[in-house]
Amino acid sequence: LTAEAQNVLDRIEEENVDFLRLQFTDILGTVKNVSVPAEQAEKAFEEGIYFDGSSIEGFVRIQESDMRLIPDPDTFAILPWRKEAEGGASARLICDVVTTEGEPFEGGPRQVLKSVLDEAEEMGYTVSIGPEPEFFLFEKDEEGNATTEPHDNGGYFDLAPKDLASDIRREIIYALEEMGFEIEASHHEVAEGQHEINFKYDDALTAADNIATFRSVVRAVAEQHDVHATFMPKPIGEINGSGMHSHISLFDEDGNAFANDDDEFNLSETAYQFMGGILNHAQAFTAVTNPTVNSYKRLVPGYEAPVYVAWSGVNRSALIRVPDAAGVSARFEIRSPDPSCNPYLALAAVIKSGLEGIENDADPGEPVREDIYEFDEEKREEYGITTLPGNLGEAVAALEEDEVVQEGLGEHVSEKFAEAKRQEFAEYKTYVSGWEEDRYLEKF
Ligand code: GLN
Ligand code: MG
Ligand code: MG
Ligand code: MG
Repeated sequence: LTAEAQNVLDRIEEENVDFLRLQFTDILGTVKNVSVPAEQAEKAFEEGIYFDGSSIEGFVRIQESDMRLIPDPDTFAILPWRKEAEGGASARLICDVVTTEGEPFEGGPRQVLKSVLDEAEEMGYTVSIGPEPEFFLFEKDEEGNATTEPHDNGGYFDLAPKDLASDIRREIIYALEEMGFEIEASHHEVAEGQHEINFKYDDALTAADNIATFRSVVRAVAEQHDVHATFMPKPIGEINGSGMHSHISLFDEDGNAFANDDDEFNLSETAYQFMGGILNHAQAFTAVTNPTVNSYKRLVPGYEAPVYVAWSGVNRSALIRVPDAAGVSARFEIRSPDPSCNPYLALAAVIKSGLEGIENDADPGEPVREDIYEFDEEKREEYGITTLPGNLGEAVAALEEDEVVQEGLGEHVSEKFAEAKRQEFAEYKTYVSGWEEDRYLEKF
């Protein structure tokens, strides 16, 4: 047993933990968990816990379904809302998936991200990610079903008493802190009922684990208050949707490899190459960073979400924005990802694109200094600005044409993912919406 694993066994003992929830995500990003009595911990670390992979979305066929979960001891955390439960506490451990032969399973999203991060490491870098997930809190109806009625009517950075949800937000933050999160800031977002909580940047694997945990914690705390929390990207048509901006920087042995104090934006050549790679592969990774039919209702002009593949110092209509920061904090923000994504796959696809940019000296072009929402097609062409895919179907097609992003996801995941998403879009295409009914039923 490793020292880290032994440490977990000690904590299980000290903190009177009865049950362990072994967690992992399927390729769509849904958190799955297997609950085992705490006495199984040692066995879990040593040989893993067997489960049937064929019943997990995007994993394997029936005939090769025996898989094992190996917990990562760094991810041990007591579940705050199970603490006072009768008997003992419950804790979770995030797991890697291995095959019966003990090989890392290439279809496991965490493994996919790890492989891309290994590549970064071979190039001499560790990757830091600071995610900013947004979400809505909605009322429930009498039957307990979610509505799209905002839980409060606050606006951007509003304070109590208007921001009725600030109590819930505070409790979410306490729960996250108990689970080891360092919270940087939280605020009421632009839309009614909409919130954002920023946690401290971390290495990309921890950041992805944190995003997955974050979503479960937000949902669990909201549930306790009989409120529905949703990470659906665009729950209401005419107002802002929910994004998950992610701040990115690379570190090497000398510190922040993105920093250059002599540059207008405080960014290094490496940062611009990485950015160039992201811009070059943006169409293809959008299927992963924005993986639902609904994601594309957010990526429209006028709601602070990006539509155009460009970068900018201040302008929030661009895909990449460079915040005013220097030195150890030099970084840029990618604004397209939304919180319905599988965080492991989304980060893997984005980081792979950036690394390829460094390898091939990609050029992000000139920054855009005006509001691109206001540009007409001619002006966009003049600036060489392309657009993100307009719907999930276009996004999947772009993914299927991009070998770099596919390589980042690995063959297994890119195939299964594209297949699942193509099917999702085909299903959507047959659906006739209320909008169409209102618009056409009586007109024609
Ligand atoms: N909600 C906006 C989006 O969809 C972002 C708003 C903001 O953080 N300023 O990305
Ligand atoms: Mg923010
Ligand atoms: Mg925000
Ligand atoms: Mg932001």
